[in-house]
Amino acid sequence: MRVIRSEVLGLCFGVRDALAIMNGVERPAEVTVHGELVHNPIVLHQLERRGFKNSGEASRQVLTETPVVLITAHGVSDAERGRLERAGKTLIDTTCPLVERAHRAAITLRDAGYHVLIIGRKGHVEVRGIAEDLPSVDVIESADDVIAYPHTRLGILCQTTAPERLVRDVRRAIEERNPGAEIRFMDTVCLPTKDHQRALERLIEKVEAMVVVGGRNSNNTKELVALCRERDIPAFHVQDASELEPKWFDGYETVGLTAGTSTLDATINDVERALVRIKPEVMA
Ligand code: SF4
Repeated sequence: MRVIRSEVLGLCFGVRDALAIMNGVERPAEVTVHGELVHNPIVLHQLERRGFKNSGEASRQVLTETPVVLITAHGVSDAERGRLERAGKTLIDTTCPLVERAHRAAITLRDAGYHVLIIGRKGHVEVRGIAEDLPSVDVIESADDVIAYPHTRLGILCQTTAPERLVRDVRRAIEERNPGAEIRFMDTVCLPTKDHQRALERLIEKVEAMVVVGGRNSNNTKELVALCRERDIPAFHVQDASELEPKWFDGYETVGLTAGTSTLDATINDVERALVRIKPEVMA
């Protein structure tokens, strides 16, 4: 069995930069991370060990006791930022510039009078942050969600980690079901997400099964798994090497390896080494 790594896998620059900022914090016990820095339990455990507090994504509305609050790479709404500042919190902002770009796109559409349609996951923290600043918004998870909207101007943008094929399908459905509307589309899917997905599409052609490494709650990791399954290729989603089951790989001669944008290099390398140990004859 051969193991082939995707040409693009693992940490994106947005998560690398956020981790670098965290590493530079001198008194972690004074800092509450506003939600999950990344959707990766290994990283979250490391931060907890360093002494960072964590408010959890479901309880961000409760004001923390620490004087410093760290905004995660997923960003927050202007409304939420204002609430924290009014409470006297000092903010450390690790919002990814490409999430900021999606926020700016939403504000541009709002200010021009568009009803905003966000292609993404309802309840995802990035999507909530964008939607909270909009008076008129719907979140669309699939083409089946699309309806004829009672608005004459529809502005479309995307969660940064939305798959390109989903964006294409939803955009087409919006146009078909709203023929009289003026529609403006802003592509806010981030380039690292596109690069991961496109590299995976190339890799799928060369392997019989795929191992996808990343947090169970990581949207972009789940989308990599979904892409494999759409292409009828078995995909095994693991958070780390300990979750690999040797029997999964019975009968495969070539297996691919990819990882979400919040997966640490060390975790990917561990998984690759474990795969080699499962099948000693594997040559990377
Ligand atoms: S996945 Fe994209 S938007 Fe999210 S942190 Fe990485 S580069 Fe930024």
